[in-house]
Amino acid sequence: MPRMTRQVLIVGGGIGGLAAALGARAAGFEARVLEQAQGFSEVGAGIQLGPNTTAILREWALLDGAAGELFVRPERLAVRDALSGEELGALRLGRNFEERYGAPYVTVHRADLQRSLLLRVRADGTPLDTVTRVLAARQDASGVAVKTSAGSEVAGDALVGADGLWSRVREYVLPADEAPRPTGHIAYRGLLRLAAAPAALRESVVTAWLGPALHVVAYPVRGGTWLNVVCVVEGKVPLDARGWDHEGLAAEVDAALAGACTPLRDVAAAVPEWRMWALHDRAPVHGASAMAAGRIALLGDAAHPMLPYLAQGAGMALEDARELQCVLASVTEGVTDLPAALQRYALNRWERCARVQRRSRRNGTIFHATGALRWGRDTAMRLLGERLLDLPWLYGGR
Ligand SMILES: Cc1cc2nc3c(=O)[nH]c(=O)nc-3n(C[C@H](O)[C@H](O)[C@H](O)COP(=O)(O)OP(=O)(O)OC[C@H]3O[C@@H](n4cnc5c(N)ncnc54)[C@H](O)[C@@H]3O)c2cc1C
Repeated sequence: MPRMTRQVLIVGGGIGGLAAALGARAAGFEARVLEQAQGFSEVGAGIQLGPNTTAILREWALLDGAAGELFVRPERLAVRDALSGEELGALRLGRNFEERYGAPYVTVHRADLQRSLLLRVRADGTPLDTVTRVLAARQDASGVAVKTSAGSEVAGDALVGADGLWSRVREYVLPADEAPRPTGHIAYRGLLRLAAAPAALRESVVTAWLGPALHVVAYPVRGGTWLNVVCVVEGKVPLDARGWDHEGLAAEVDAALAGACTPLRDVAAAVPEWRMWALHDRAPVHGASAMAAGRIALLGDAAHPMLPYLAQGAGMALEDARELQCVLASVTEGVTDLPAALQRYALNRWERCARVQRRSRRNGTIFHATGALRWGRDTAMRLLGERLLDLPWLYGGR
């Protein structure tokens, strides 16, 4: 029987998938989220969101008021030398920054962002199928269908692969694609109560320490009651590199920071428990054909996984979802059909996502520099600080 309202099937209920469901509903579509996990919980760690992203959250009424009450609006971003502790440069993130871009820079615990999205998706009445792993997909001129681990087949009008780095849906857009590339970079993430953090870090500040083959970032989350700490080192990738959450060892962090300044070592020592991620990425998106094919589109890490050195992976997923909303609205308005709308989505997104992927990689080289490159970086940062750290092309557009 023909459906009255068109339905988008969304594979994956992470930040990208939930945002896609929200965008699809706002565009007048029905959505259905298929998630392999038992629930929609995010592993504990923080993320930073630039104004390019918070503008979207504001549009969806998820930034101001109760939905965003646990978001922190840091006053500044400070870049320090990991060895000497010297401040190399800073970017003011307060009111001027918000006025310039029309939205704030925020730091948030992923679970808090996930919960806000989830509440909204549930309020929309969108079905959320958990413990439902998508095994295969197909499409024809009239629609799409996926086979699930429950043995059922679910049909819809379009399919969005928001199934992360190891995406299954990706093979239906890019059949000859290779597996994600291990980068040899390992991220240790931990949280500590702000009251237990060294005094200098109890301010509303994002601090990044740059050192040879490593960097550390710390910022407040959960309404400013907790400090999120991420320590990235270059090293041996664990054997089970595919699981993206590992028990990290404080001893490994300690060894990596052996030559670091005392304040940095003190922060690391105060973290009660570390978790470990082996970082992977893919080559930057090479064209619109890498983000959509017919009635199937990719979104978030499934389309463009990136190193976290520009703090924009979730940001790009949210931008994708906003663009998806825009093109689906044109279908609802009868301006275009679904395959053409998804083609437009891909055309509008791929170059920006590729640029962010490239810049994220480049930041890794700059952050971890040694020798002459390190000297050049530090000199430029001392001279130009704010001008280097402010990124109008990124924060001001999408
Ligand atoms: C150390 C680190 C720091 C970061 N910091 C930032 C930051 O500061 N700012 C920022 O914007 N980003 C940051 N990121 C990146 C950000 O976390 C990711 O880009 C973002 O979470 C991707 O969201 P997603 O929804 O696309 O994918 P995911 O979060 O991976 O969600 C994919 C979902 O799909 C489900 N799934 C997978 N396969 C299937 C299947 N076959 N069937 C059904 N369900 C399936 C999974 O269970 C999962 O729930 C960071 C990442 C790391 C590792």
